[in-house]
Amino acid sequence: MPAPLRLRLDGDALVQNWRTLDRLSGTAACGAAVKANGYGLGAIEVARRLADAGCRDFFVSNWQEAAELAPLGLTVSVLHGVREEDMPAATAGFARPVLNTSIQVARWKAAGGGPCDVMVDTGMNRLGVSADDIADGLLDGFAIETLMSHLACADEDVPMNAVQRDRFAALAGTTSARRLSLANSAGIALNGYAFDLTRPGLALYGGIPRADLAAVIRPTVTLEAQILQRRQVSAGQTVGYNATWTAPADTEVAIVNLGYADGYFRGFSNCGTASKGGIAMPVIGRVSMDLVAIDVTKMPAASEGAWVTLDFALPEAAALSGMSQYELLTSLGRRYSRMWN
Ligand SMILES: *Cc1c(COP(=O)(O)O)cnc(C)c1O
Repeated sequence: MPAPLRLRLDGDALVQNWRTLDRLSGTAACGAAVKANGYGLGAIEVARRLADAGCRDFFVSNWQEAAELAPLGLTVSVLHGVREEDMPAATAGFARPVLNTSIQVARWKAAGGGPCDVMVDTGMNRLGVSADDIADGLLDGFAIETLMSHLACADEDVPMNAVQRDRFAALAGTTSARRLSLANSAGIALNGYAFDLTRPGLALYGGIPRADLAAVIRPTVTLEAQILQRRQVSAGQTVGYNATWTAPADTEVAIVNLGYADGYFRGFSNCGTASKGGIAMPVIGRVSMDLVAIDVTKMPAASEGAWVTLDFALPEAAALSGMSQYELLTSLGRRYSRMWN
């Protein structure tokens, strides 16, 4: 069925962004985080394109996400490791776990210890075994592919980045790991954090976690939605829930077929913009669950059934809406038809 809202997804920009991050990773290999349905774009479509471009290491959060990618036959690491109830999937061989706790390590060893990665905590205190666990022999004689850690503040210039990097570097040679991996998108833009393998997510999809990436990362996502009704609102009348916008003069208004249930959040109320043919049309009133009103006084062509583009440049859209670039991407819902170029 033809959807009244669509995402135009730029596969060339996605691949270009991966190549750029691969180049910035220097001699390290560049993988791809495709968790949360490829940050909202569609995990299968993203992974297929990046695999064709030469990407060899993919990261998801859980085994449901890994199972979805299984038909592609890629090397997939599951960042949350293995619970007991994951063991049937984990031993099936279509992906490998990133072990995060000594209990997960023991569980994997008891099951025969197939290919796996290990996460070590270097200061974020989120997931991972400790450096002390490793010094105490947790991983002795245990075959692992990649030892990884995760940066807490790579999008900022703070001393903690170097502290984490140095703690991680000190673990080189203390395990059987063939490779070391530390950097996410922002970490790639720091110097000397790439080790053997990088794990970008956000920047692949056009997000800009550090200003230094703005010049080289291309947007991949364009939001388009159809006008459901065009109406006239006379001076003094209001638009939308809670009447937060009052017409200063007679105004032409179009009601557009998307809302916060599609990830076009309420933070865009009275400050977002749509555009058509280079002309900006301000969002007026409150964003509803499924609808948004825009001022089309300057745009006679914005008639019932016409399509408009919602401005969604990620850094700017994040600042306007009060959401993070990550939230904006991963909240793009299921109601869009996703159209790849
Ligand atoms: C999500 C995630 C990434 C990717 O991070 P970005 O900031 O999106 O580049 C890398 N590593 C781990 C462990 C993650 O959870």
